[in-house]
Amino acid sequence: MQQYLQQDIQFLPGVGPKRADLLRQELQINTFEDLLTYYPFRYVDRSRFYRISEITSDMPQIQIRGKIVGYAAVGKGRGKRLTADFTDGSGQIQLVWFKGAKWIPENYPVGKELVVFGKPTVYQRKLNVVHPELEDPGKKHVVSSKLQSVYSTTEKLKDRYLTSKAISKLMANLVKGLPARFEETMPAWLLQKLNLVNLDTAMRQIHFPDSSGQYKRAELRLKFEELFYIQLNILQNKTDRNRRFKGNVFETVGDSFNTFYRDHLPFELTGAQKKVMKEIRRDMGSGRQMNRLLQGDVGSGKTLVALMSMLIAIDNGFQACIMAPTEILAQQHFKSVSKFLHGMDIRVELLTGSVKKTVRKPIHEALLDGSLHILIGTHALIEDVVQFKNLGFVVIDEQHRFGVAQRARLWKKADVLPHVLVMTATPIPRTLAMTLYGDLDVSVIDELPPGRKPIITRHSFDSKRLMVFGFLKKQLAAGRQAYIVYPLIKESEFMDYKDLEDGYESICRAFPPPDYQVSVVHGKMKPEEKEISMQHFVAGRTHIMVATTVIEVGVDVPNASVMIIESAERFGLSQLHQLRGRVGRGTEQSHCILMSGYKLSQEGKLRLDTMVRTNDGFEIAEVDLKLRGPGNIEGTQQSGVPFNLKIAHLGRDGQILQLARDTAELIITEDPDLKLEKNFIFAKHVKKGNPNRIDWGIIS
Ligand code: ADP
Ligand code: MG
Repeated sequence: MQQYLQQDIQFLPGVGPKRADLLRQELQINTFEDLLTYYPFRYVDRSRFYRISEITSDMPQIQIRGKIVGYAAVGKGRGKRLTADFTDGSGQIQLVWFKGAKWIPENYPVGKELVVFGKPTVYQRKLNVVHPELEDPGKKHVVSSKLQSVYSTTEKLKDRYLTSKAISKLMANLVKGLPARFEETMPAWLLQKLNLVNLDTAMRQIHFPDSSGQYKRAELRLKFEELFYIQLNILQNKTDRNRRFKGNVFETVGDSFNTFYRDHLPFELTGAQKKVMKEIRRDMGSGRQMNRLLQGDVGSGKTLVALMSMLIAIDNGFQACIMAPTEILAQQHFKSVSKFLHGMDIRVELLTGSVKKTVRKPIHEALLDGSLHILIGTHALIEDVVQFKNLGFVVIDEQHRFGVAQRARLWKKADVLPHVLVMTATPIPRTLAMTLYGDLDVSVIDELPPGRKPIITRHSFDSKRLMVFGFLKKQLAAGRQAYIVYPLIKESEFMDYKDLEDGYESICRAFPPPDYQVSVVHGKMKPEEKEISMQHFVAGRTHIMVATTVIEVGVDVPNASVMIIESAERFGLSQLHQLRGRVGRGTEQSHCILMSGYKLSQEGKLRLDTMVRTNDGFEIAEVDLKLRGPGNIEGTQQSGVPFNLKIAHLGRDGQILQLARDTAELIITEDPDLKLEKNFIFAKHVKKGNPNRIDWGIIS
């Protein structure tokens, strides 16, 4: 069987060298097995005929049987088309073609019995089918009594007649040639428990279903299997890591924490913050090394949670650090942590690339002798000269900006691996987090501190720019600051830069000095120039910040209350959400204005509508995941989404994923090494739950 499946695709009857090249290039199909796991993305029901009187325009594809009663050529120019009235005695429907006006009436004359297949729509209040498939019911083989699978193809493949139907024929040849049944990849007890069909049935039914029920069962079995082995693999690694790496036990909650909580905390923690603190404390006391992802929208109070966790580390005699992706972010953390701890006997220092040598030296020394408790900084923390006396707790902000290797170097600075808290403001939907960071535990702050005014978001067309500028003037007059953001897409960096330059000029004209000062930040500037420009804005010396997406992460200017996003339709949803999160940080009402032209794709419109409708980052992330698939979700690019899923969809198969996760958890809890006889088959297949997955835990 394996031999058969590993054969080069060119040896499949009906393929040959030329088609094999195409299949390889266009669909990455190299072997029989690759073709076999090229699953249909839907199927069409050719098993029943509808009566025209039953048809409505919201039906998917339908099949009817009847006669053409007459042809007509209508319209002019691009609207020119051939129409035919078609009847089955119960009603009439119109068939429409925009090409083929000549050969269609010749091949399908008036009065001849025909089968019509296509998607019904309504045009000028008449039901019609555009470019229907027509078949002669006398030809037996064309009208199948079964469901027909539909495979996605490419234009290039279609040009060479490798249509969905052709792929289906190849699949039939492949299945016909199978030398045996498929060997089962899950134990009988599990199939029985979850009522799943066996692999052999599933593989055959997924391509050639006998009924829609059979198709669905085959699909469920294959999706479950795919997701299950990924989860099993993740959980096995995680268990293994927990056994190999011990964590420092932080037993006491001592003076630092208590003093802070009692005397320095200026407000009540939110319920979500309390919940997360409990989760973290449980980890710290468990003897395992904590690896936790803390997700929470901008402004939800993650930094405070990080700070209190660091205080617990300090109470237990350890040092802590925060690593941020940019100098500005590190400075902001330093400022807010120092402010929170003001008056307490805890030493905090800042270490970034721009800190002078003379200042660095005493920091290095204090780290080594243990008199420095909290170090906050950028990549500078990773350098070899930076040595801790006993690092016990590491906070990493906005993790996707750091490479895996960089973090590994930080890990190595301690004898026992420090506890790690990774904070991100890029919400990742649960289903995705479960898979991508399946070996991290996930905490979520899903509640904003009280009294925040939700940001008001509007969508405005470019033609209304003057009104938008008028609004902006009023806000500036009231003492606020504003961001105006232009898109930056790698492939056309030059053009976008031009957009920004033109925009900058027109903004300077509309907001002239000396009344208004405008900062600009874009990717072509040197880091130091960027930094200076940002600082002007942070300090309030400039009123408007014109920028590309470089300002996306982290900058905190509470006085900035207006965010204008140009060509907003060109941004992804999570990026829009990140940008919007730059405002709404102060006490004033904040506004986000999404600018676009009139011409919007359906998806572009959905993105803008979603932004206007909700401020909830998780809801937005879910929509994003459904729209784009996991490969494009912000924050996952660096992990490269190691999963090339063949049949399951992380955005749509959340329930199956949950079932897969729960099932894998039960199995691993009972039998972490998969040694029991009943789990033998898992041990054999667990590797396919992805060999090249990045392990976020073991990276030292
Ligand atoms: P994040 O890091 O999640 O973006 P921060 O920790 O920077 O959020 O918090 C944003 C602001 O909200 C800060 O000014 C912080 O002091 C304040 N804040 C945090 N927690 C609370 C709370 N429970 N109640 C009121 N304000 C809070
Ligand atoms: Mg923050």
